[in-house]
Amino acid sequence: MSAKPAPIQRADFDQFMVPNYAPAPFIPVRGLGSRVWDQSGRELVDFAGGIAVNALGHCHPRLVEALTEQAGKLWHISNVFTNEPTLRLAKRLVDATFAERVFFCNSGAEANEAAFKLARRVAHDRFGEDKHEIISAYNSFHGRTFFTVSVAGQTKYSDGFGPKPQGITHVTYNDLAGLEAVMSDRTCAVVLEPIQGESGIRPADQAYLEGVRRLCDKHNALLIFDEVQTGVGRTGDLYAYMHHGVVPDILTSAKGIGGGFPIAAMLTTSALAAHFSVGVHGTTYGGNPLGCAVADALIEIVNTPEVLNGVKARHEIFRARLQRMGEQYGLFSEIRGRGLLIGAQLSEPWLGKAGQVLAAAEKEALMVLQAGPDVVRFAPSLVIDEADIDEGLQRFERAVARLTTQG
Ligand SMILES: *Cc1c(COP(=O)(O)O)cnc(C)c1O
Repeated sequence: MSAKPAPIQRADFDQFMVPNYAPAPFIPVRGLGSRVWDQSGRELVDFAGGIAVNALGHCHPRLVEALTEQAGKLWHISNVFTNEPTLRLAKRLVDATFAERVFFCNSGAEANEAAFKLARRVAHDRFGEDKHEIISAYNSFHGRTFFTVSVAGQTKYSDGFGPKPQGITHVTYNDLAGLEAVMSDRTCAVVLEPIQGESGIRPADQAYLEGVRRLCDKHNALLIFDEVQTGVGRTGDLYAYMHHGVVPDILTSAKGIGGGFPIAAMLTTSALAAHFSVGVHGTTYGGNPLGCAVADALIEIVNTPEVLNGVKARHEIFRARLQRMGEQYGLFSEIRGRGLLIGAQLSEPWLGKAGQVLAAAEKEALMVLQAGPDVVRFAPSLVIDEADIDEGLQRFERAVARLTTQG
């Protein structure tokens, strides 16, 4: 008789995993809607949403159905062939957005890598070698490949790996004059998040985005919106650009688009897409039938007035309660964001202590996120029940009360 394998425990992480993460002390094993259960059977409320990924919560019945139905048909076929779910999803995205062409891949970083390579390629083909500069904002985040960390404006992610890709300039977010000063005929693209997510839920100003669009047109530069975090209903519009009425040339979408199944997309026009001719770019898994079947079902559900208006209504509930808690306990100085991408800025005495707030919430069986050291981030399911919001906010208030009275 073989010995029963030892039970899986959190300590196994430290023994077997590359130490590039520091996960919480418990192991989630099951989720349903906006509730998660850990190994000990403890039930948690989920306001983290897998970092703005679980757009319809856990195990949404229509996503489970789409995934399992496709799982019995065809999992993977490669891009030597196309497949029905890919084409169905591409058509849905084209119908719903500015885009005329879609490229599928598997993560936000890969979607941005494709966007940056496409922008460089277009400039190279149309204008020649000199037009290769990419401008991005300080504190932006675009993924963890070497090109995407180099483009993003946070040296903590890009330093320490040797020479970086060249031709990248960083500017201050929301400073149009600063951008104008560095743009030239050498600029091939400007890339922005409509709301800077990872660095603290900082929304772009309307006039800034309009001005950036004008400057891009003036200098024959492409405007890329990284909507990896803001896309797919997260802000209460299908994509955040729709709220602003500022249309990009290239848009990247990931995180929420698969509701937890890894899939990402780069959206663009047919004129730009033509520069990615056969063989210029590719990926083995991109557009695989499982991911596309799930994303197609997800967008069908999310892109409805009920769900999108519901996101806006839920925002108001969170904002009102968090604002009141901020005043009562002196913990927050500002509540930012749109839809269900909400950042609570810690007040002066609590700067740098977002990690402590997360730990206190976890003790009350609540999952929340941080966005940098000074901001507590909420990115729950877009269809989270009001009862779950209420229960989660009660747990959050208990955590905040405990934390602030302990001093
Ligand atoms: C999360 C994120 C990415 C990276 O996505 P991955 O799937 O982790 O590669 C890129 N851009 C933004 C704005 C993000 O929030």
